[in-house]
Amino acid sequence: MGRASATKPLNPLDTQKLISDESAAAQQLRAGFKWLRFEHDLEREFRREYTRNQLPQIRRHLYLAALLVVVFGALNGLVLGPGAHTSLYVVQFGLLFPIIAGAIFVAHHPNARKLYPRVAPVLAPVMGLLVIAVELKAAQTGVQIVFASVLLTSVYLYFLIGLLFYESLRANAVILCAYVGFGIVGGLPESHMIYNSLVLLLGNIVGATVAYSLEMEIRTHFLEQRMLQETAARDGLTGIYNRRRFDEHMETVWQHAQRDGVILALLLVDIDFFKRFNDRHGHQAGDECLKAIAAALARAARRPLDFVARYGGEEFAVILYDPSRQYLQEIAARIHTNIAALGIPHGDSSVAPSVTVSAGIAYVAPTLERSTQGFVQLADEALYQAKADGRNRSVVSEAAYESLETGSFRANRKAAG
Ligand code: GH3
Ligand code: MG
Ligand code: MG
Repeated sequence: MGRASATKPLNPLDTQKLISDESAAAQQLRAGFKWLRFEHDLEREFRREYTRNQLPQIRRHLYLAALLVVVFGALNGLVLGPGAHTSLYVVQFGLLFPIIAGAIFVAHHPNARKLYPRVAPVLAPVMGLLVIAVELKAAQTGVQIVFASVLLTSVYLYFLIGLLFYESLRANAVILCAYVGFGIVGGLPESHMIYNSLVLLLGNIVGATVAYSLEMEIRTHFLEQRMLQETAARDGLTGIYNRRRFDEHMETVWQHAQRDGVILALLLVDIDFFKRFNDRHGHQAGDECLKAIAAALARAARRPLDFVARYGGEEFAVILYDPSRQYLQEIAARIHTNIAALGIPHGDSSVAPSVTVSAGIAYVAPTLERSTQGFVQLADEALYQAKADGRNRSVVSEAAYESLETGSFRANRKAAG
């Protein structure tokens, strides 16, 4: 666990999903979520983000709650007379206050993001029950003013301590039932009970309605933000990741590889004679060709951590995490065969009747003295070499070990033809 804390987590990147269809967030938004629940992975991420965003205000609201307990305690003392109701003080300062203090402790805990969402839904109804106990005790003596604190508790549970809709609804249902139940058992006057229960019920209906709309809005906002981020990471034409995302991914993956002591491979893939292709077949056909090649690359590199992006113009980049030499060769071969299999006619290529690519490959162990810029540079030099050697091939520059050697493996000309 500690190992991962310094750098961003390395998530599997589903290039297939990016090029093929809608993202999970877009699907969810389209399908709707009237029950306030997303599909499993999205729901988990939503809850994580929700707690992270809410924690600062939750802490403030909990401090305020502690203050309210003190103020209500003092008010009760004033109204009910001194010394007569020690049991009230026991509940308020011996139980309710420590529980709120406990919630504050959890909300400040280094692991609060995990702990708080588990603890709060349990503590919330307990706090509510204690407030009810105080109210009923006071009501038995004929003083009703504390009923305000029950309503205030309801507001707290709906809006102020970061509970999700169903959690706050559950906690409030417990309070309402307890109020009615204990009120009947406690033998409070009937009119008093009916009136207060109705007020509490109506308060809950208003609270729940607003809380529902609020959570709908928060969830919608979450999905829209998601979609925005995804759109910002994609290339508009081909649908695979764009240069911006490539740069981010490169930084992350470089740090991880450095820390884990594994090798990275970068393949810069450039379409051969693409200017001539445009001139001959038209820019529109050029665009279609770029899309087809992007999809072919994504199909070729499909392990969970393989990453494919449009690097710029008619150039693509593939990053492989911890590839064996064999896997690297396989991928390079697959790229050439997949693209040959597309069979996009190129009327003006000097190397094949259909569209081909050249690839420059850098195979590097990221050490402290190396940089991502150097890594790209190495792949770029290899690409230049592949072009100079006659195109439709891959050239690999190995800086994985101390010596730097350059090797080349030719593409399958037969497949390309
Ligand atoms: P080489 O084999 O040496 O790579 O030659 P080339 O013609 O492929 O390379 P050059 O860099 O001379 O030309 C790249 C061409 O790619 C020029 C540009 O019009 C075309 N291109 C870049 N982006 C796009 C695009 O989004 N759509 C289309 N249709 N063409 C593009
Ligand atoms: Mg080119
Ligand atoms: Mg180019």
